[in-house]
Amino acid sequence: MTVNLGTTPGQMFRGRCRECGWTWDVIALPMSIDTAAQVIGAARCPMCGNGDGNTCAEPRVLTEAEADHKSRLLRRPPPAKDD
Ligand SMILES: [Zn+2]
Repeated sequence: MTVNLGTTPGQMFRGRCRECGWTWDVIALPMSIDTAAQVIGAARCPMCGNGDGNTCAEPRVLTEAEADHKSRLLRRPPPAKDD
């Protein structure tokens, strides 16, 4: 799938810590659903380290620098699978 970030704004999926209430950036979308699930599943609060029971926070639009970096990543071929 090709996503044109010139017309489709990327979004930063954000998490909120159940323990301390901190909100942080988790993944920059778009991303493959498999990779996104792995990253979200492993996400821990950068302030207190809690990884249990965290919730979603309001997403935000990618900054210009993030969108530029993401568009370059999306143009690269996917990494080879080991299996
Ligand atoms: Zn926390």
